Amino acid sequence: MAKKRIATVWLCGCSGCHMSFLDLDDRLIDLAAMADVVASPIVDVKDFPKCDIGLVEGGVANEENLEVLLKLRAASDTLVSLGDCAGFGCVPMLRNQFSNQDVLDRAYIDVESTAFGAVPTIEVPQLLPKVKPIHEHVKVDAWIPGCPPSADRIWKAVGALLRGEVADGDTLEYD
Ligand code: SF4
Repeated sequence: MAKKRIATVWLCGCSGCHMSFLDLDDRLIDLAAMADVVASPIVDVKDFPKCDIGLVEGGVANEENLEVLLKLRAASDTLVSLGDCAGFGCVPMLRNQFSNQDVLDRAYIDVESTAFGAVPTIEVPQLLPKVKPIHEHVKVDAWIPGCPPSADRIWKAVGALLRGEVADGDTLEYD
């Protein structure tokens, strides 16, 4: 049987969900026998190859996040929210109570550590008006909840996805 293809990205998240994925430890060797990871945040992929499963960490906060999400949606047979930021916004949505200008001023000007003195105007993706979970931009087929989801939960969820045991809209909340 042909190996399945998995792609992963992180958008506006802390990378904790991907760290949990890496906590699969030696199970990553078992995963490699079942699937090829054709894209991940450690490889700067501009265009995603076709894949069976796309895993998305993080909310959608800026124009670059949205572009990446749309590309992965188009490339993936099954798109999965990995963690609570992708699933319902969670931590990055805390930004939504402030204006974008206030957020940028706090990050680049009114900051204790490094004073840039100005908000950069190039090479920084434009913030979207609000941070949103990914299902508010694209169709999402399943969600692995948690902040972050545990490695055990990810393992069971990815196994079910690879075996085709997941129905449309499932929440993959394995203990
Ligand atoms: Fe980080 Fe939690 Fe968001 Fe995952 S769900 S990206 S661990 S804050």
